Amino acid sequence: MRILLVEDERDMAAWLARALKQSGFVVDHAGDARTAEALIADGTGYDAVVLDLGLPDKHGLTLLAEMRNRGNATPVLVLTAQGTLPDRVRGLNLGADDFLAKPFAIEELEARLAALVRRSQGRSRPKLECASLVYDSESHAFTLAGTLLPMTPREHAALSALLMRAGAPVGKSQLYGKVFPHDSGAGPEAIEQVLHRVRRKLAGSDVRVVTVRGLGYMLEAIATADAAGAGDEAGG
Ligand code: CA
Repeated sequence: MRILLVEDERDMAAWLARALKQSGFVVDHAGDARTAEALIADGTGYDAVVLDLGLPDKHGLTLLAEMRNRGNATPVLVLTAQGTLPDRVRGLNLGADDFLAKPFAIEELEARLAALVRRSQGRSRPKLECASLVYDSESHAFTLAGTLLPMTPREHAALSALLMRAGAPVGKSQLYGKVFPHDSGAGPEAIEQVLHRVRRKLAGSDVRVVTVRGLGYMLEAIATADAAGAGDEAGG
């Protein structure tokens, strides 16, 4: 089992990594959120993430929320300080799978990790679909009529948000918030540029992004008689 350990305290991280490796886990270590995000984004595919909340560059729960916003469903076990109920409640709301209060016995961490991975492997691969557009939440990839759809991170974020509510409009500011970080300084027109590129990638398929006046944008299936059986190559 491959584990990403996100922990900035060197002694704690070294002890955890050593103990987990001895128990047969493959462990990658990130000492800050930036490193963790790079490791997660490189597509290695972790079976679980062990996440400390107090990181030097970002709160652990922010990192978790951003992972989930991108559709990353990797199980996350959060390490908390003793008696921090608000962190636990917020963590659950943000998609944490389990918690362990420091200090803890390594055996307990191992048992919980094994249980988490078992649970996640037992559940079916969650998929989101709209006509021939499919998002696999495990590989984090979009396919269109079975063909992998290459996406930039912003296009990916926009299409994920639209697909999650396919058939219903997503507000422009809501979509903007999903695509651009708070400090990006991108103007409101930037979201239209991202959507323009998304639309081009969907062109010719049986799904499209429409503008709903006053309400935002909506992903919808195009109901045509030959859309399902046309067999021509989608996109360009
Ligand atoms: Ca810490």
